[in-house]
Amino acid sequence: MATDDASATTTDQLTFTNPVTRYPTISPPEQQQDEPGLESQIEPQADLGEQSYRGTGRLEGRKALVTGADSGIGAAVAIAFAREGADVAITYLPSEERDAQHVAEVIRDAGSTAVTIPGDLTDPAFCQEVVERAAAELAGLDILVNNAGKQVAVESLEELPDDQLEQTYQANVLAMFRITKAALKHLPPGSTIINTTSIEAYKPAPILLDYASTKAAINNFTKGLAQQLAPKGIRVNAVAPGPVWTPLQTSGGQPPEKLPQFGQSTPLGRAGQPTEMAPAYVFLASPESSFVIGETLNANGGMPTP
Ligand code: NAD
Ligand code: MG
Repeated sequence: MATDDASATTTDQLTFTNPVTRYPTISPPEQQQDEPGLESQIEPQADLGEQSYRGTGRLEGRKALVTGADSGIGAAVAIAFAREGADVAITYLPSEERDAQHVAEVIRDAGSTAVTIPGDLTDPAFCQEVVERAAAELAGLDILVNNAGKQVAVESLEELPDDQLEQTYQANVLAMFRITKAALKHLPPGSTIINTTSIEAYKPAPILLDYASTKAAINNFTKGLAQQLAPKGIRVNAVAPGPVWTPLQTSGGQPPEKLPQFGQSTPLGRAGQPTEMAPAYVFLASPESSFVIGETLNANGGMPTP
């Protein structure tokens, strides 16, 4: 195991600790995987919370659907939700079966039900199917996390392929509309919807024009829908991560030559680990945040946001 590996960390999220040194400042070697990338192939390994996330019963009996939850932030959220007492359905692309089975095993080890739903969210019919399967197999639904996302860096607008532009909007924005729309009939009052946006929504990198603009759309959708659904007792919020070490970054999300410095420009001086995002989602999913609506919770190592 390389010294930068965070996957074996056992210090839990509730232990008093210095955030600068809670995880190492990683300097990932240049690496490139085909999209969407596999968690098991990234170097160093990331912390999804398998050893480090401690549940405190905050989501007892809840039923959650988390998209893109085979790896990265979604996987860490799914694991945390299970440890907090929720049953969890996860979606992922078929090529990610191996990562998904690992997450499902951790969910089941927590004593929760895990439902695994492979498929492509750029397909509108699959967006419907995901919701129907999750609601049927979990016998209901009261947490929806729209987290799946596509990010491919391109140097200039002239070089941005039209099919990439369409697929990024399909996966990041249209799927979120479709899944959320399909989920509404299942969500009782008290339910929560959480969308994964990004620091890129406010501070777009010049090489991420398509991706960054989808994240601005997600923030906007969150604030609009939050007002529409609040009277029904359904709360909608977003989480905006900063740089987090996930397979997305190694499968086109960043140019490989930029990976050795990944995340080092945050005020904390390091990239985030996926499990460091999970408490934000747990807070927004749990009834304790009952008066928090239309909010974007930034978890980015200290980068200023509007
Ligand atoms: P990740 O690669 O681990 O997760 C993204 C997942 O999205 C993939 O595992 C895949 O299952 C899913 N996905 C992508 N395209 C899909 C498609 N067409 N159909 C179905 N599923 C699809 O990477 P991550 O960084 O954990 O990303 C999760 C979310 O976090 C994304 O929305 C991303 O934009 C956001 N985010 C990440 C960072 C970061 O630094 N890693 C920062 C801000 C926001
Ligand atoms: Mg993945």
